Amino acid sequence: MDGSKKVVVIGSGPGGAGAAALLAARGHEVDLLERNPFPGGKCASFEKDGYIVDTGVHMFSMGPYGPHGDVARIAGGEAEWVARNPAVDIINCDHVLWRVYQNMLGPRGICWLGSSIARGMVADRMSPRAAAGRKLLERETYRATRRYGPCEALRTLVRIVRLDPGLVDELDDVTLQEFAHGLWDEDAFLQELAHICMVLMVVPYDRASAGEFLVCFGQMLEKQALSVPRGGSREVTGSFIRGLEKSGGILKLGREVTRIVVENGRATVVECAGGESFSADVVISSAGIKRTLELAGEENFPGEYVEGVKGLEYSYSFITTKFGLDRRVIDAVAPCISTTPYLHPDHMFDYIDEGTAPVDPMLYVTIPTEWDEYAAPPGKQLVIMGVPGPIEATPGRIQQCEKILDRGEERLFELYPRVPAHIEWKMRYHIGHTAALTGKPTGECIGLAQSVGQTGRHKPSPKTPVEDLLLVGADAGGRGVGTEQASASAIYVAGLIG
Ligand SMILES: Cc1cc2nc3c(=O)[nH]c(=O)nc-3n(C[C@H](O)[C@H](O)[C@H](O)COP(=O)(O)OP(=O)(O)OC[C@H]3O[C@@H](n4cnc5c(N)ncnc54)[C@H](O)[C@@H]3O)c2cc1C
Repeated sequence: MDGSKKVVVIGSGPGGAGAAALLAARGHEVDLLERNPFPGGKCASFEKDGYIVDTGVHMFSMGPYGPHGDVARIAGGEAEWVARNPAVDIINCDHVLWRVYQNMLGPRGICWLGSSIARGMVADRMSPRAAAGRKLLERETYRATRRYGPCEALRTLVRIVRLDPGLVDELDDVTLQEFAHGLWDEDAFLQELAHICMVLMVVPYDRASAGEFLVCFGQMLEKQALSVPRGGSREVTGSFIRGLEKSGGILKLGREVTRIVVENGRATVVECAGGESFSADVVISSAGIKRTLELAGEENFPGEYVEGVKGLEYSYSFITTKFGLDRRVIDAVAPCISTTPYLHPDHMFDYIDEGTAPVDPMLYVTIPTEWDEYAAPPGKQLVIMGVPGPIEATPGRIQQCEKILDRGEERLFELYPRVPAHIEWKMRYHIGHTAALTGKPTGECIGLAQSVGQTGRHKPSPKTPVEDLLLVGADAGGRGVGTEQASASAIYVAGLIG
């Protein structure tokens, strides 16, 4: 193709692999360099005793109908997606409070929501503390529903996102807590909101941008395709890389980039550990905005830009325990179970910065074998439990993660007492592992926090002050949930190169 460029992409997470695949499909000559011996970044999987295990605890809010599907289709390397209905069970006080159907505004979703509230909180294994809180929760949820109607509230949120993108931009300057307190005053409703915000954006709702939350939540409601790819989370980037290779692009594993050479204000060469180097017309980095500045040399950027980047904050982490069970122990209705802590919504996640473990942990549990029977050997069950945690991979924080996971596992076993007797193997994967995966000193879940001042028009642009050096991934350009904003950013960046 005329105007074909030599492009070097650093990092093979959804952002880097997506940009590489799209540019190769347009006829550019693409090298995709990855420091690990496997691709996928934070959205990877590995095999253990016949199980396909997610390095994280992933679920994809728009499945094939969002940017993952768009990138794969354009690049020509599609994945097979699996959705289940209901998609998630939200548990509050030991009881399934909300069975989330793919279409929450459809008859089944509305009936469940309405009937669960009318029925009250029926729980047969309720702790005394939960039982005491039950009555209050019941009354408040009922009042909230009568006064505003949760379905009406959901509809309003979707309408805001669909009809007025300008309003979403304005709401980037408001925290979700501030936005929500203006509309609802029932703790029960705010508890659910704080919980969903942590699941979608991995920031507490008193820091999260209300605009970004509305985009994430609205897209999920609109597409009705909360799902996972068959074959594990690695298939997201797997599909992109199949497309990349079909178009002649090359994935090079085990290539740690140590320097981006800048000459006369332009990025020209990428150097790797071991002495290998790659000349480039364009360098695209998904190593994270802070690391990219280090690689290219801070002295090559205006001081104001460097200061701005240093002030950016990351999301919190999700730390996980994976369980290989010798049989199907959790008789799940939905393949994902998420628990709402019975705590004040404004203080639900205070334990993270306080350096402690939560009293009532928020669990986000996926059961990959409920979507894909081949995620484990026949008859066995794979369960992945995630809990929000800190990010700095220091000895103190790693110890805190162990305590958080101890508490998380206790809570999981309270809910599902038959699990411990059937554990074939158990593995913890926390910030130390995530940091090792990305080569950073921190193990954040998403990338930059989607907090006020860091989303929408405030989000760092993929264009940097250095010519021909672009950023891609969760730290630049896109909106949406984790991997999806990284893939959306890939589409944006590929469009800048043409
Ligand atoms: C526990 C956990 C649970 C999650 N759950 C979800 C979920 O349910 N849904 C969802 O959508 N998202 C989820 N996420 C978030 C999602 O995985 C990330 O937001 C997404 O992977 C970010 O993509 P990225 O392309 O920006 O960067 P990454 O995935 O971080 O990829 C960056 C890549 O760059 C490589 N790299 C870095 N430096 C260099 C270098 N110098 N040289 C060469 N290569 C380099 C790294 O090795 C890595 O492969 C979760 C993440 C975690 C950790």
